[in-house]
Amino acid sequence: MSESPDLADYEWPACLACHQDLWEDETGRYACRPCENRTHQRLTELPGLFARLHTTAQLMRGARPAGAGTSGSPTPAIPPRIDVLNLASAGGVATRLQAIEDAWRKAFGRRIEPASDGVRIFAPWRTTPGRAVAGQIEFLIINLQRACETYESIDQDIEEIRRIHAECSNALNPNQRPGRVKIGVCPVVLDDENELRCAAQLTASTSSFTVRCPNCQTTWDGNEEWKALHRAQREALLPTAGLTTAA
Ligand SMILES: [Zn+2]
Ligand SMILES: [Zn+2]
Repeated sequence: MSESPDLADYEWPACLACHQDLWEDETGRYACRPCENRTHQRLTELPGLFARLHTTAQLMRGARPAGAGTSGSPTPAIPPRIDVLNLASAGGVATRLQAIEDAWRKAFGRRIEPASDGVRIFAPWRTTPGRAVAGQIEFLIINLQRACETYESIDQDIEEIRRIHAECSNALNPNQRPGRVKIGVCPVVLDDENELRCAAQLTASTSSFTVRCPNCQTTWDGNEEWKALHRAQREALLPTAGLTTAA
């Protein structure tokens, strides 16, 4: 009459990340193979996403994209968007990936080597996040399987990688919440004699390369015209593009 002793209490091991039961040949793992595969896919896509994000951020800051020479123009080529700038900056994607890399290295019992040029110790994910990301992702891809098998907090990192991937995709998707940013006021002269300027608040959307004044309907289309707009604003001592997001 005795019940089998363990059955009621026994819990089949489950993946920490998706909570699905593990297959028999997955026992001992912390995360299942499908979670590993999905994470692998996201990591494979991240370098491309980040490269686009990085270039976009440089255009927003008014710097030329890497490789186009060292002198940056102070005029942003496209209006800045906070989410893109944040993800591409020090403290963005590079710093978040570095936290995962450091946690895995610790879990695997490896030393965390400080980056050094022989003289100074520096943090490349803070100084050159664009370059650091490639190396971080390479490390994560190589060590993903081992982390899924042996690292007990892997579920948090699987979730963090999912979030980073989603944030980068969303920031680059022009159809998703097109960010509107204030880019100063309209410099168009409406009345020459009295030097009366339109001065309506201009906003730009990242989903379009055209800026249209809501008052005088003047449009500026594309890089060159935006630069002309910026110049006209500065010459007239009018407010220009800042980093303020429009409500
Ligand atoms: Zn899973
Ligand atoms: Zn106007």
